[in-house]
Amino acid sequence: MNILVTGGAGFIGSHTCVALLEAGYEVIVVDNLCNSKVDTIDKIKKITNKEVVFYNIDVTEEKDLDSVFSTHIIDGIIHFAGLKAVGESVEKPLEYYYNNLVSTMMLCKLCKKYNVKKFVFSSSATVYGDNEIPFREDMKLLSTTNPYGETKAMSERILTDIAKADSSLCVTLLRYFNPIGAHESGLIGEDPKGIPNNLMPYITKVAKGELDKLCIFGNDYPTIDGTGVRDYIHVVDLAEGHVAAFKNITPGVHVYNLGTGKGTSVLQLVKAFEEANKIKVPYEIVDRRPGDIAECYADVSKAEKELGWIAKKGIIEMCKDAWNFEKNIK
Ligand code: NAD
Ligand code: UDP
Repeated sequence: MNILVTGGAGFIGSHTCVALLEAGYEVIVVDNLCNSKVDTIDKIKKITNKEVVFYNIDVTEEKDLDSVFSTHIIDGIIHFAGLKAVGESVEKPLEYYYNNLVSTMMLCKLCKKYNVKKFVFSSSATVYGDNEIPFREDMKLLSTTNPYGETKAMSERILTDIAKADSSLCVTLLRYFNPIGAHESGLIGEDPKGIPNNLMPYITKVAKGELDKLCIFGNDYPTIDGTGVRDYIHVVDLAEGHVAAFKNITPGVHVYNLGTGKGTSVLQLVKAFEEANKIKVPYEIVDRRPGDIAECYADVSKAEKELGWIAKKGIIEMCKDAWNFEKNIK
């Protein structure tokens, strides 16, 4: 089975390529490397000892993408390619709407042309908005607070409408919670360009001495210690969730949360990182970050019941693997 993985050189995509190859799938990666490096493809090959077909192509470019569809028989798509920085999406909304929506629609157009029926989409817990916890797939979605979140909600709508109009289509929407950690080899992981926006890459840069201290955004939330609570999931578990989703894909639209079901506060994560790696992470408490919610974690029972998938790795392993990868970055 050939799976087209868009954004396969990125953080989650690269780990998913490893999981797919290890499960016996063939992988064709399309990535324009706007937020990743080409040597990640070699690292995927090194970890798995398998071949990967790679195209440096922008998914919004119809001609280039068409040539991939006409060259290979594609059995299904996992669509990771997208821009993902929340703050940047507020400053550059058009770039975000264009990239994230046109990429999804272009893939749908070519799926129709080439009769590809299976489509797995990277969505996000952000589509729930500031909802009641734990977040369940059947909840009414509340409005998102930024263009990035809107692109996820809109892509979900577009895919749902397309699947409604063609009952032979199989669409799975995966709502990720907070992926962190890295492959145990230390070869692939999260290496954002510039100053990280997300908590774990910021922590690892502080631990490494590249940044002075972590700024914790608010300690007056109604949570266990006042700091924000999120559902952190090991990226290798998340990657395996995609294999389970692909194996179980059926006609219609199916939505799954991929998380652990457990909440961890910012301070708890900092403490776990310090204990796991025997290293200090200096921090200071600053104002809340606009648009942040207090607490967010998943109800994961649907994925367990229908996909037979459950996250296995705990916070300490996530912290160890994130640090192991960071130490390897040159
Ligand atoms: P990432 O930036 O590491 O990976 C995305 C990849 O897509 C990059 O390699 C980038 O070069 C590529 N890309 C972007 N636009 C492209 C285009 N037009 N054509 C071809 N390639 C393009 O991000 P990630 O963390 O691996 O996220 C993967 C997906 O999961 C994204 O859609 C993201 O929005 C979604 N997601 C991520 C998180 C998270 O916390 N990391 C949470 C929820 C959802
Ligand atoms: N956070 C923080 N300092 C940072 C980055 C994040 O205190 O430098 C907090 C943030 O307020 C939230 C949690 O860490 O409570 C997770 O933030 P992240 O940006 O990683 O994920 P998201 O907000 O998308 O859930």
